[in-house]
Amino acid sequence: MIVAREAAILAPFALHSVHTAGRRYAEPPHPYRGPFQRDRDRITHSGAYRRLADKTQVFTGELGDYHRSRLTHTLEVNSVARNLGRALRLNEDLIETLALAHDLGHPPFGHSGETVLDECLHDQGGFSHNRQCLRIVEQLEQRYPDFPGLNLSLEVLAGQATRADRGAATERPPLEVQVVDAADSVAYDTHDADDALKLGLLELDELLEIPLWQSAARQARRRYQALSRNELKRAVLHELLNWQVGDLLEHTQRRIAAAGVHRLDDVRAAPVLVAPGDELAPLKSELERFLYLRVYRHPQVLEMRAQAQQMLREMFAALVARPSLLPAVFAERVAESGLERTVGDYLAGMTDRYAAQQHTQICRSV
Ligand code: MG
Repeated sequence: MIVAREAAILAPFALHSVHTAGRRYAEPPHPYRGPFQRDRDRITHSGAYRRLADKTQVFTGELGDYHRSRLTHTLEVNSVARNLGRALRLNEDLIETLALAHDLGHPPFGHSGETVLDECLHDQGGFSHNRQCLRIVEQLEQRYPDFPGLNLSLEVLAGQATRADRGAATERPPLEVQVVDAADSVAYDTHDADDALKLGLLELDELLEIPLWQSAARQARRRYQALSRNELKRAVLHELLNWQVGDLLEHTQRRIAAAGVHRLDDVRAAPVLVAPGDELAPLKSELERFLYLRVYRHPQVLEMRAQAQQMLREMFAALVARPSLLPAVFAERVAESGLERTVGDYLAGMTDRYAAQQHTQICRSV
């Protein structure tokens, strides 16, 4: 059923389910779900996915309830990526799986947490959220008696692996993987400014001096006559999303045609096909530099970052000093993974709230 449906709908250069290389542990096919639909369902039913609801994207939950969490960011990435995928006639089931999984490996407190764990695990090969995502889906999620992890399709693991080892691959990943990467950038380039405005870390006028926002504001004013400041802000945010997605589509379709891409093998041999055009790309980079300096390094953000890092550092030291404080499921993993890595896995799986609670408990009992 799925095979015929995909053959009728998808482009010949999409990754069709019929071409999957299967799973590490062989499983019989499902009566009505295709392999990537099952993968998607395995992600949405996983504990790591639910915990994204209480993990920091950029701003911790203590700052308010308007801004994005790791989960709502993930859902925005998914919606942008699926729109791109449908317009390009790609495999939306695979796209959805990759999008919903892409940030599963983030520790509590976002990149601040990642930096600390990377320091703590320096001698064990370091820590990266992209690699941690693979550990989660291949080992740490325990949901089936037959195998460790979620036993996802090999194409999903390979797609995530390209995020973990950027630049290492000699061939390009399928378009479904490229679309999710591009959608991630569309989402954060739009929502981080929105969140920072709402939190009062930025003024609208500062953003309106950035060329990307200037152009989007010009478009918004052309479309609507008189706009209040709040209406202008919202109209610019819509404009930014539309512009980025439209630009990606236009340039991707052009590159596909120019490179003579007809089959999946052509995608692998071509340069990256899903990327913004030459006009938009530098504007996005300039916005990202601005956000880095003015938002990600805002004194209020840096202060929360320092607190979070201190908490994780202390917990790591306390658990390595007293492994008996580890929950049983993690204690069992020490023999195989080593103490430090296991402590890292335990800490990385925590939500922001749980990490704060555990910090009080663990550090009191040492
Ligand atoms: Mg992301």
